Amino acid sequence: MTDRTPLMAGNWKMNLDHLQATHLVQKLDWSLRDARHDFAAVEVVVLPPYTDLRSVQTLVQGDKLELGYGAQDLSQHDSGAYTGEISGAFLAKLGCSYVAVGHSERRQLHGETDELVAAKTRAALKHELVPIVCVGEPLEVRQAGEHVAHVLAQVDAVLTGLDASTVSGLVIAYEPVWAIGTGEVATPADAQEVCSAIRTRVAELSTGDSADAVRLLYGGSVKPGNVASIMAEEDVDGALVGGASISVEDFAAICRYQ
Ligand code: PEP
Repeated sequence: MTDRTPLMAGNWKMNLDHLQATHLVQKLDWSLRDARHDFAAVEVVVLPPYTDLRSVQTLVQGDKLELGYGAQDLSQHDSGAYTGEISGAFLAKLGCSYVAVGHSERRQLHGETDELVAAKTRAALKHELVPIVCVGEPLEVRQAGEHVAHVLAQVDAVLTGLDASTVSGLVIAYEPVWAIGTGEVATPADAQEVCSAIRTRVAELSTGDSADAVRLLYGGSVKPGNVASIMAEEDVDGALVGGASISVEDFAAICRYQ
């Protein structure tokens, strides 16, 4: 089996302006270094608002911090008359290495479809950004027992048509919608059930090697107190963290879950 480097990604959502971002990134770096965090063993990434990215780049590149950073969304287009949109090319120029696509808040509040999420995933890969593809079921789907089928349909939409060589570089985040920002966390077994089904599907649609290499995150009310049990699951390779990622203390504790 491939060794998959665990990834802890902090989705700040629409929180923290560029001054607050600078402050948080510095404190997070100090806190992790202080605790002798091995960044090669557990990768740490922050996803600030677009307007913070230049400041975060200056800090990370200037001070040679080991934190990675990326954006919370991108356009499926490269450039042109798309008012308000941000291209993957611009993000790459700012030194981003990751970008979230298809977050449930984008799907629910901005009407993003599976087709659009697939197009954004392709745009990210084109610009050599690692897409963190978010999938997950709403509460009524889980209550109907259809959660695995629902998530696999979302995965299928993204993977269909992708070259096998690119699939291994994806990150897929399983984020049950009912657990995001609610304090309601899926059990480790719930996370494992869906992540294992995703890995099997990646093997079917791509190759066994890609399935072995692809990193699967769990997201939904991850906190310092529940991260270790979720990370103990075989197919969970990290966490996508919302609320707790804008607290240095909590996010640093999550990154040092071992
Ligand atoms: C998220 O926004 O991706 C998320 C998982 O949020 P929270 O951790 O606050 O549930």
